[in-house]
Amino acid sequence: MTQVVYKPTDIDFTKPGKHHYLVAFPLDSNWGNSLVPLTVINGLNGPSEKNVVAIGGTHGNEYEGQVSVKRLCRDLDPATMRGRVILIPQLSQSACVANRRESPLDGVNINRAFPGNPRGTISYRISNFVKTQILPQVHAVLDIHSGGNEAIFPLCASFHPIPDPQQRAETARVAQLFDTPFIMLYSSQMHSGLLTDEAEAMGKITIGGEFGFAESTHRKGTLHAYEGIRNVLRHYGLLPGDIVKIDPARPAAPRFVQAVNLEDYIPCPKDGVWEPTVDLGVDVRVGELLGRLHDFSDHSSEPVEIRAHRSGVVMMLHFAAQVKKGLTLYVIAQDVR
Ligand SMILES: [Zn+2]
Repeated sequence: MTQVVYKPTDIDFTKPGKHHYLVAFPLDSNWGNSLVPLTVINGLNGPSEKNVVAIGGTHGNEYEGQVSVKRLCRDLDPATMRGRVILIPQLSQSACVANRRESPLDGVNINRAFPGNPRGTISYRISNFVKTQILPQVHAVLDIHSGGNEAIFPLCASFHPIPDPQQRAETARVAQLFDTPFIMLYSSQMHSGLLTDEAEAMGKITIGGEFGFAESTHRKGTLHAYEGIRNVLRHYGLLPGDIVKIDPARPAAPRFVQAVNLEDYIPCPKDGVWEPTVDLGVDVRVGELLGRLHDFSDHSSEPVEIRAHRSGVVMMLHFAAQVKKGLTLYVIAQDVR
């Protein structure tokens, strides 16, 4: 049974067992609501100090998080669990339905809307709900992303530079539970209003990540997201059992890389058709050819060669062939030492 709640404060976060809700956020322009799905599980084996929230669909056209968190809504059994797990498979529900990065209701990317505003448009009200009602209850925040239609990444869990050494060390430990080939330390300089930045600033153990691309449901990315969330629950004792090695075919531990300065997120120099010449996740030397930009207004013209501005590992490439001046064309990260 799924219960519609019209006031977020009507969700009973302490009720034992598993309870499914649709949290109603009134539309700005019509009679009706965006019904954001939310499941609360309170394990029957007692409480925990270290509760967890897992979120998918912060961006609507990224499906690995939506699918893995939805599956967990069914698969997790409170009879075997301790503590509290909150699952939100489609946070920006209207964006998910529309297969878009931002909500079509207000044109807002909810991952730039934090800490939100209780009197703002729908994306600001949903982010304010997360900020005030969800984040204070949990120790760990898992926000599952992928490249959408913008970018391709090698599978990676991610977090931002964290000044507090203890929080940094625990975050790194928890990120490894997703067993992705890479763990990426992102720059915090590019944007403001991110869910993960907000949670990190509140002292939460916060993991993001890129688990696929191309508005698809990446098989392996979904496996890492689903089993990685379960590993985090096992790590904090909310779910019984040992940590699972998610990709036994890759014996190496995740490789920690970082691109913490904006200088490593290279904007496209001009509009064109992008032809990458390297694979994701490979090591390149400074000056190595990464791709060509073609100008079809003159098919006899020389392409613009895009060469690595530094040595390191290719952690992101623009996805679509058609690329506009200023959009991020590639990211080169370096090993964390
Ligand atoms: Zn995203």
